[in-house]
Amino acid sequence: MMSDPHSPTFPPPVTDALVACHDCDLLYRKRPLREGEKARCVRCGALLYTRKPNSIERSLTLALAALILFVLANVYPLLDFQFQGRAQQSSVLSGVRELYAQGMWALAVVVFVASILAPLLKILALLYVLLPLHFGRRPWWMAQVFRWIETLHPWAMTEVYLLGVLVAFVKLSDIATIVPGVALYSFAALIVAMAATDAALEPEAIWERLETRR
Ligand SMILES: [Zn+2]
Repeated sequence: MMSDPHSPTFPPPVTDALVACHDCDLLYRKRPLREGEKARCVRCGALLYTRKPNSIERSLTLALAALILFVLANVYPLLDFQFQGRAQQSSVLSGVRELYAQGMWALAVVVFVASILAPLLKILALLYVLLPLHFGRRPWWMAQVFRWIETLHPWAMTEVYLLGVLVAFVKLSDIATIVPGVALYSFAALIVAMAATDAALEPEAIWERLETRR
C-alpha cells in the first residue's frame, strides 16, 4: 500500500495493527481483507474481524436517507400543542428560538449545534466523500473532510434532543393536548439512519477505493 504524498494525514497501513482473539486471547497481526471476507482465530475459530460487503454503497444509501429525514424533521412540526383553546405548533428551530428568547442563549446554541448544525454538516460531509467514490472519482480534500467527519461525530447528538422532547411530552400531557407531528417520527428515524450509516461505514474500504482509483 503506497502512502499519499498530497495528504499528510493519510493513515498508515492497517497491516501493522495487532488484534487479540476475544475468546482465547491469542494475538494476531492484522492483515487486509477483501470485501465480505472474515478473519477467524485458528485456535478456537472465533471471529476476529470482518470486511462488510459494499460498505461504500450501503453507507451512501443510508446517508441519502438521513438527508431526506433531516429535511422532513426540520420542515414539519415536531409537536402540536393545544392548551386552553390555544393551539401552537413547535419545530426543532422554533424550540431553539424559544430558548434564546427566554435568555437561555448558551443552551440555545448547544441545542442548535447538537441537533441541527452538526448532524447536517456530518451528513453533507459523508455525501461529499461517498458520492464521488461511488462514481470512481476522488473527492478534493478527501483526507481532510474524512477527518472532519470524525471530529463532528461527538457533536451530532440528535438523540439527546429527542429525549428532551419526549420528557416535555410526558410532563405536559396532563395539562395540554399534545399531538406528535411528522417531524417527531422523522427525527426518530433520522437517529436510526445516522447510527446505521456509522455502522456501515468502513474507513478501510474508503482508503482502499481511493488507492485503486488514482
Ligand atoms: Zn481464539
